[in-house]
Amino acid sequence: MNSFPHITEEYYCQNCNCFRTSIEVNADWKCIKCSNHIEIRIKTKILDNSCFRIRASELATNDMILLDRNDEFRTVLDLKKEGDNFKVAIERYRAINIHKDNFILKLHGGWYHNKEKSRVGKGESHP
Ligand SMILES: [Zn+2]
Repeated sequence: MNSFPHITEEYYCQNCNCFRTSIEVNADWKCIKCSNHIEIRIKTKILDNSCFRIRASELATNDMILLDRNDEFRTVLDLKKEGDNFKVAIERYRAINIHKDNFILKLHGGWYHNKEKSRVGKGESHP
């Protein structure tokens, strides 16, 4: 199991405060300029979220993960390292085995970055 990029994804670096293209995101899903985790826009049927793509070895209990775009976010209940794999117990789901270096989508929060508005300075006021 691995998490592949989707055509609707957008990438944003909170640290650089700007959008990134897919080639400005390195193989670890970090910003090529500052190495921060890139926020990834994940749209599902009902939600518009910001996620990080992290390695299974970076997962922690209580993280919310997305296994499939047609699914909902589910909570990681338990993690057990078994050799190079992690056995991940997931809320209302079966346990999965995932290689420690495989990526998985972790929920960060809502998506609030707007490509149109991002050019407008925050200091502008409208009396
Ligand atoms: Zn950056």
